[in-house]
Amino acid sequence: MKIHKTKNTGQISVFDVAKIRNDFPILNQKVYGKPLVYFDNGATTQKPKIVIDTMSKLFSEHNSNVHRGIHYLSGQMTDMYELARTKVQNYLNARHNHEIIFTYGTTASINTVAYSFGEAYVKENDEIIVSEMEHHSNIVPWQIMCTRKNAKLRVIPFNDKGELLLNEYKKLINSRTKLVAVVHVSNSLGTINPVKEITAIAHENNIPVLIDGTQAIQHQKIDVQDMDCDFYAFSGHKIYGPTGIGVLYGKERWLNEMPPYQSGGDMIDRVTFEHTSYADLPFKFEAGTPNYIGAIGLGVAMDYLTGIGLDNIQNYEKKLLDYGTANLTTLNGLKLYGTAKNKICLFSFLLNNVHPYDTGTMLDKMGVAVRTGHHCTQPLWEHYKTEGSVRASLVFYNTLEEIDFLCEALKKIQKMFI
Ligand code: PMP
Repeated sequence: MKIHKTKNTGQISVFDVAKIRNDFPILNQKVYGKPLVYFDNGATTQKPKIVIDTMSKLFSEHNSNVHRGIHYLSGQMTDMYELARTKVQNYLNARHNHEIIFTYGTTASINTVAYSFGEAYVKENDEIIVSEMEHHSNIVPWQIMCTRKNAKLRVIPFNDKGELLLNEYKKLINSRTKLVAVVHVSNSLGTINPVKEITAIAHENNIPVLIDGTQAIQHQKIDVQDMDCDFYAFSGHKIYGPTGIGVLYGKERWLNEMPPYQSGGDMIDRVTFEHTSYADLPFKFEAGTPNYIGAIGLGVAMDYLTGIGLDNIQNYEKKLLDYGTANLTTLNGLKLYGTAKNKICLFSFLLNNVHPYDTGTMLDKMGVAVRTGHHCTQPLWEHYKTEGSVRASLVFYNTLEEIDFLCEALKKIQKMFI
């Protein structure tokens, strides 16, 4: 433990964030001659050295395609790839190793279910429920499937704080509902949705549930058996792992019944010109050469987080959230979007009548990296009758001093524009 001093609150004890920051080489740099304040973790997280070094070593010393080779390197790489699958299984507390499908990211994971589940179970006039706060990648694949099948998309609304209205959700469920697809944590508002309750309500009606865990998995312990969701999707790059790798968790029963999404090498059992039989799980859903080095990198990132302890991460990030909320809300003219009781450390805001791009550009020149715009949730912003926001999304390598710096920077911007 280390005592961490801040301007506004005196002393707050936190875990050793300085030590943690040393694990992330990219953080220790200047942009435009100013120390980098990286608050764009919702878009992607930075990588610890152990992930970077492991992947570099794999390319330098071990690279070989998996599953097909009888030679030493291929066998070694196959073992490491399959070990990564087991690490993900343990991380999510999935019942079976073959319930973990490696994809290239959340988008690919959701598209897999939308296509494949749609082919197997969705008919004309059936309904799929999503929420008003979904990322486009949990809307558009369902929309395309609904168009193909002549089915309908139904939408769970949220209140102005950014909390889903569960009573409205219950009213949407009927005998035509085929699946519920809901985000665990909103990337635009930070809301942590009650996904266990949402799943239980759907299950009372025998409806399966897909949870988009892209913004949840890096902030809290995930237990898919306890949550009891049928599918859980996330991207490696948001959990301190590499880009180009992601996961689709699916209950064995569904994955066995669903047809493959993409096809080609690796996903087959036997091919003739008349007929093809498919490989068993998980390979049925992993057509072509997988991103095996990415998968191993993801496993290393998960080991790294487990080493720090997800409880420690969650406690520290809560301190950042409380501190940031207290300080940002003292700024006159700052409007915060997403004030749910249960949320991650994410601040979505507009500063007076300054356009978010202008705020973001000015912050960038002061060394602060934030995201501006609709954050791939255009329907969510329609709720607030605005086009988007400035989003500062923080994680466990961010500091209270960086929040102080953001507040001072915003005051300077107000002086310039107002
Ligand atoms: N869902 C949510 C909630 C997200 O935040 C994102 C990424 N911003 C996605 C899905 C899509 O993830 P990816 O682009 O890595 O496929």
